[in-house]
Amino acid sequence: MRIALLTRAKDRLYSNRRLVEAARARGHEIEYVHTLNCYMDIASHSPSVHLGGQELPFFDAVIPRIGASVTFYGCAVLRQFEMMGSYPLNESVAITRSRDKLRSLQILARAGVGLPLTGFAHSTKNTNDLIQLVNGAPLVVKVLEGTQGKGIVLAETQKAAETIIDAFRQLKANFLVQEFIKEAGGADIRAFVIGGKIVAAMMRKAAEGEFRSNLHRGGTASLIKLTPEERSTAVRSAKRMGLNVAGVDILRSSHGPVVMEVNSSPGLEGIEKATGKDVADMIIQFLETNAKPKRTRTRGQG
Ligand code: ADP
Ligand code: MG
Repeated sequence: MRIALLTRAKDRLYSNRRLVEAARARGHEIEYVHTLNCYMDIASHSPSVHLGGQELPFFDAVIPRIGASVTFYGCAVLRQFEMMGSYPLNESVAITRSRDKLRSLQILARAGVGLPLTGFAHSTKNTNDLIQLVNGAPLVVKVLEGTQGKGIVLAETQKAAETIIDAFRQLKANFLVQEFIKEAGGADIRAFVIGGKIVAAMMRKAAEGEFRSNLHRGGTASLIKLTPEERSTAVRSAKRMGLNVAGVDILRSSHGPVVMEVNSSPGLEGIEKATGKDVADMIIQFLETNAKPKRTRTRGQG
């Protein structure tokens, strides 16, 4: 197969290096395609992608590793590849869906997936009622576009919650208000799903004095065995989001597993190191089985 790795980071990222290694080890050609340097002939009947003055060749498969800050342009480039018939590891439509936290939660709620109580509001009135929707403080306020734990605040008291919500409103930020799952004890589960199966899972524990377990925030990872309910929650979440490859983040709450988010470009470093599994190889194997020209569900539509 000829594979494009759509990324800006090249060898700088562990995940990219591992995917390149795994693809070459299995006898495929793989090259980096810099997401933002691509330009496209949008309106043509024979769609193409150009880079550095040249039209790119046909790729059997495209692995999108699109950073959160360039979701819009990155998904447009991926969509163009889909229109050309390349098989995307994850489809542009599914990536767009998963990057919007609010939309994701609505989709998961409709599918009956367990979620933390979550409220969303625009108006500056009724702050108290919004707080009551999630059973009061302590609660978590999340900016919709945040990643790596950056846009998340824990409000421990009613007063703190009101102040934070008012401050976010002043900034005109879109945010969610969410029940704080205290019983999770600063730990969450990352279930790595490929093609409807859980291939690896880890528990991430927040650093001392921190409630966010993101590895970028000093969290530590360890191997974990998932319960059947957690497994089905993760698999259903990935399926509902339409993602072939997903990192599903789950909290162990007193009312069962609740999903926080479904990641469409889950990092490989934490999970491979915690579990000792060759996840990159499994991703390439998935492409070997599935990457047939024009096999994407949407071909960039919808
Ligand atoms: P990000 O996209 O920034 O990673 P998340 O929604 O995954 O945002 O939250 C980051 C971390 O904060 C989670 O991994 C978890 O440890 C903690 N966290 C998030 N929401 C809650 C919650 N409702 N209750 C308890 N902890 C939470
Ligand atoms: Mg997260």
